[in-house]
Parts: sequence; C-alpha cells; structure tokens
Amino acid sequence: PPPPQQKEYLFKVLVIGDLGVGKTSFIKRYVHQIFSQHYRATIGVDFALKVLSWDEHTVIRLQLWDIAGQERYGNMTRVYYREAVGAFIVFDVTRASTFEAVLKWKADLDSKVTLSNGKPVPAVLLANKADQVREGLIPQLPRLEPFCKEHGFVGCFETSAKENTNIEEAAHCLVENILSQD
Ligand code: GDP
Ligand code: MG
Repeated sequence: PPPPQQKEYLFKVLVIGDLGVGKTSFIKRYVHQIFSQHYRATIGVDFALKVLSWDEHTVIRLQLWDIAGQERYGNMTRVYYREAVGAFIVFDVTRASTFEAVLKWKADLDSKVTLSNGKPVPAVLLANKADQVREGLIPQLPRLEPFCKEHGFVGCFETSAKENTNIEEAAHCLVENILSQD
C-alpha cells in the first residue's frame, strides 16, 4: 500500500535574550542532548535543525536561529526576524538585568515581525538556569504565570539546559502554539 499522507512543516524559530542567559545551551541541549560550560560565541547567526515526528501524519523541521555577539545591542534587524513563526525569549534567573531585558526583546520581536495573518509571533518565556535558584534567584522576580499572561507570552517555563529540565516541554508548547495558528 502507498505510504500514508505525511505533512511536512519547516518552522523558523528564534532564540533571543541577553548575552550569557543560555540561548546556545538551550539549543545544544534540545538538538544535540549535550551541555558544556563553554560555547564559543561565534559571531553572526547560527542554525540548528531539530526534526520532530510530531504525529503519524506530521513531520516538523524546527530551524532554531541562535544569535551570537549581537545580543549586546538588545535588538536585531528585521531581516533576522523575517518569516519567523515562533520565538523563545530567554533570561537567567540569577541576573535581574536579563529579566528586565525580556520585555525589550518581546517588543523588538513584535515590532519587527508578525505572522502572515497579522497576529504576533507566538513566544515562550524561558526562565533558564533554574538549577541555580539556591545560589540566588532574582529577588524582585514576579510570579511568572501572570507575568506571561499580561505580556502576551503563550507559555513560560523554568528551564535548566544544564540539567535538562523543561526543555522538551517548552519546545512542545511552542510548537503546539505554532500549529494552532493556521
Ligand atoms: P548565550 O550567550 O545566551 O548563548 O549563553 P550560553 O549558552 O553560552 O551560556 C552562558 C553560560 O551559562 C555558559 O557557561 C553555560 O554553561 C551556562 N549555562 C547555560 N544554561 C545553563 C543552565 O541551565 N544552568 C547553569 N547552571 N548554567 C547554564
Ligand atoms: Mg550563545
């Protein structure tokens, strides 16, 4: 018998947030199941491809766009954002300045790209380095759920790229939201 109809999607997904929050670590963990203390900051844009057998009929290719070196400016060009259908916005739970930057990144995203139907690109907030909470959680960190609702994130997760906590869950949440857009 002929193979069942398979749908294939290619999704461009951005991973943004301040320098050192764990963007590259998140991608390496998710795509290659590895963690290292030292990722060289290659200058420019880096890609990683994660292929998901989503269900019997659906294959999803997630093209994860990492940024390297440009985070320090706190914004990216429209060209970089073009045709993105989802985003992870990452901060480091031990560094307040990286949390304060979250809304700046969200605003940058929303001002430079929308879905073809005009809606904002679904974004998931990652509170990364959750394994380090004991070493000092940002004292003024608000409760994340209400924060995410208020600011239009489709989900938020306390992640650890180091300990592989909530990485798959966060990605699953984003993909579900991307799929429900069309
Ligand atoms: P990027 O600049 O956002 O790409 O951040 P990197 O992925 O290069 O990570 C910066 C530093 O934080 C590196 O030393 C990583 O090993 C470390 N790091 C990243 N994620 C985690 C995590 O979940 N827990 C801990 N403890 N360290 C992490
Ligand atoms: Mg990096």
